[in-house]
Amino acid sequence: MISFFEAKRRVLEQIEAIQAPVEHLPLQQALGRVLAQPITAPEPVPNHANSAMDGYALRSADLSATEPTTLRVVAEVPAGARLVAPLQAGEAARIMTGAPIPPGCDCVIMQEQVQRQGEQLTVPPGQQPGQHIRPAGEDIQRGQEIFPAGRRLGAADLGLLTSTGRTTVPLYRRIRVALLSTGNELCSPGTPLEAGQLYDSNRAALHAALTLLGAEVVDLGVVRDERVALAAALKRGSEEADALISTGGVSVGDYDLVKEMLAAEGAIHFWQVAMKPGKPQAYGRLGNAHFFGLPGNPVSSLTVFLLIVRPALLKLMGTTPPPEKQFRASFVGEWSKRHARMEFLRAVVHFDSRDGQNGRTPWVEVTGAQGSGILTSLAKANAFIILPEGPLQIADGDWVTVQWIDYD
Ligand code: AMP
Ligand code: MG
Repeated sequence: MISFFEAKRRVLEQIEAIQAPVEHLPLQQALGRVLAQPITAPEPVPNHANSAMDGYALRSADLSATEPTTLRVVAEVPAGARLVAPLQAGEAARIMTGAPIPPGCDCVIMQEQVQRQGEQLTVPPGQQPGQHIRPAGEDIQRGQEIFPAGRRLGAADLGLLTSTGRTTVPLYRRIRVALLSTGNELCSPGTPLEAGQLYDSNRAALHAALTLLGAEVVDLGVVRDERVALAAALKRGSEEADALISTGGVSVGDYDLVKEMLAAEGAIHFWQVAMKPGKPQAYGRLGNAHFFGLPGNPVSSLTVFLLIVRPALLKLMGTTPPPEKQFRASFVGEWSKRHARMEFLRAVVHFDSRDGQNGRTPWVEVTGAQGSGILTSLAKANAFIILPEGPLQIADGDWVTVQWIDYD
């Protein structure tokens, strides 16, 4: 049995980004997708020097350093307008936030700081050249690289790209992931359960998680624990997708055929990982597809997906999986662990104050019963508590490592 870290390392080592074909798509379709080429700015942002305040634009050379100065307001520049003729000595322009700085002006004063009567404007001393002016290119310079290839685009990114005038971006194609559930006991939602059956919740959860990641899902449905049916599904998945995810059938029971079929039809890179939940799992290759044989238990399959498969799929998509969002929090309650495996407890992190806590220390508690069939524990959680290998005892107030749960 290999460690969690070793399993993750070995999976990531096997994955290579899908590089082709490159698609040029409108920004509206680019959320969560990965840039195939670096992007540079054709224009600076902002495009012109503009006012950061509602107030008056003026020439700092006109101002006395020690006395109030009186200027004449000769123009008004709302956002979207601009002055063509430069201001002359002793002149000022009323200006609104975002409006272009009139030629000749090098200073904006806030309207709260001046006195105005009719055309007359009185400006106190102490103003600095350049103040309250957002220079052209303050955010992005012309020709500057905004994002490298491999950037996975988020909401702010789409705003930034739009600010440079772009409407389309070059993207790697979406990855295709085939998904199947194994188990004779599984019933598809919408059909009444018969004795001994349960609903196929794994496929629902993983389908959703894959959708959030931006993968195209090839849904292969429920496959019975039979060699012929399983072989056919694995073949189809490996031909149609870049990666294949199954749940169930990967343990040591009499009907656990997935590992055997993977060995027969492809190659197993590892089987069983020293983690809880998620010990029975297999990773390997079927034709050109990566194969992830996840455990059947609902908590286990989704946990392994989040901790191992998701980073691997991000790499397949062409981006570097971001560092895990880990931090330390104060444990509330008590916990003891006798087994040797690493453990991932489902938990909720809080930042509010509570008895004995001042609200500046994050604290964390488990989400109730932690059995690997208790999906409630994961549904309620916003983080995993990561317990290292080996037996240990955690007392109330002990510091533990937690990791935010990220799906998208
Ligand atoms: P297995 O690894 O196939 O022995 O399954 C372990 C446990 O997970 C059993 O209790 C199964 O009934 C349950 N299970 C397997 N597949 C699913 C699924 N798709 N949805 C919900 N529970 C499942
Ligand atoms: Mg099974």
